[in-house]
Amino acid sequence: MLCSAVPAFLCGLAPRRKEPHAWRFLPPSQLDLAAVVGNVAPVIRNVIFDWSGTLVDDLPAVLDATNHVLAQAGMPPMSREQFRAEFKLPFTGFYEQHLPNIPMEQLEAWFHARFREVQGSVVELPHARRFLEFCRARGVRTLLLSTMHPDHFAVQNRANGFGNYLDHPYLGVWDKRKKIHEILRDHDLKPDETVFIGDMEHDIETAKHGGIRSVGVLTGYNASHQLHRAGPDRIVEHLGELQDILEAAGMELVSAVPSGSESRRPVVTVGAAILDDAERVLMVRTHKWSNRWGIPGGKVKFGESSESALVRELKEETNLDVRDIEFVLVQDCIHSKEFYRDDHFVLLNYRCRVPAGVKAEVRLNEEAQDYRWVTLETALEMDLNQPTRVLLEALRANKTADV
Ligand SMILES: [Mg+2]
Repeated sequence: MLCSAVPAFLCGLAPRRKEPHAWRFLPPSQLDLAAVVGNVAPVIRNVIFDWSGTLVDDLPAVLDATNHVLAQAGMPPMSREQFRAEFKLPFTGFYEQHLPNIPMEQLEAWFHARFREVQGSVVELPHARRFLEFCRARGVRTLLLSTMHPDHFAVQNRANGFGNYLDHPYLGVWDKRKKIHEILRDHDLKPDETVFIGDMEHDIETAKHGGIRSVGVLTGYNASHQLHRAGPDRIVEHLGELQDILEAAGMELVSAVPSGSESRRPVVTVGAAILDDAERVLMVRTHKWSNRWGIPGGKVKFGESSESALVRELKEETNLDVRDIEFVLVQDCIHSKEFYRDDHFVLLNYRCRVPAGVKAEVRLNEEAQDYRWVTLETALEMDLNQPTRVLLEALRANKTADV
């Protein structure tokens, strides 16, 4: 079924509310002001979700099925990085670029046959369920606009039950831009009260096409520089961050504070090059830094010493207990284009070690997507974020000076 809404009963879904009355959830003060003044910033009453990469992580299954298609056509497989860089929606453009001579029906048949076999690997994304519950508690109307085939959605919905939180799913939509106006019209959605949340440029373009708000999430296919290119209202690391923003602003989708604002202060962070017995350094890759490789670390909390913050952050992000902590240098990181949002960090950079003889078992939390133990020289050949490059070059210079 292409480019058409799927009746809810086909997917085992039933609209939760016929006519949600989001105004009931406004504090009386805001409601009165909105009625009288009429120029209060709009609150978000309707959320249109993308599915893949926004509510669920299906990238491994989609990559597997895509490589199956490429193999059937006698083409070499794509790495995860290559796929993320090249895959785009509508996916007809992706296939026209890579397999222009094979009919779409054949490509679809290969893809879906394989996807059916591997979609057991699809999992819900962290924060997704809580965000859906948050929308329901606030009386926010929820819709889904996805390219996902209705059959696959039904299988995945049986596993995670997310359909229970969605008032109306639109599935199998190849070009979402061609559907958005119909959705807005059918549900009488006011554009400035409606946000589309997605992980791809096409999602942001769709929102702009419909004249609605847009939020890019970094939990899916596109990296932050790709999302930035499409110009969403906000980019967030994940739905949990968006929930915090909406809760703090009474459901308004506020812009990031302008960089020139005097009320804004730099953020103090700590990070470390962690070394093991073999003098290898732990590199982690995170979507927050344009999918580039870097070091683990994070923000210092109020009242916390910087070294305590470092020990805590490294434990949270890598599960490693470190010792022999040495301060190396401090860096300003101001308006970095590599970071997913405009910010000013003061980066306190350290080096430290995992205890000798202890098997360093790295367990990443959701903030990083990959890790490697490599020599300093190998690390410097990787696609590093700039502050990490500065730190590792300083470590190499120190090493050379020590010899
Ligand atoms: Mg997506």
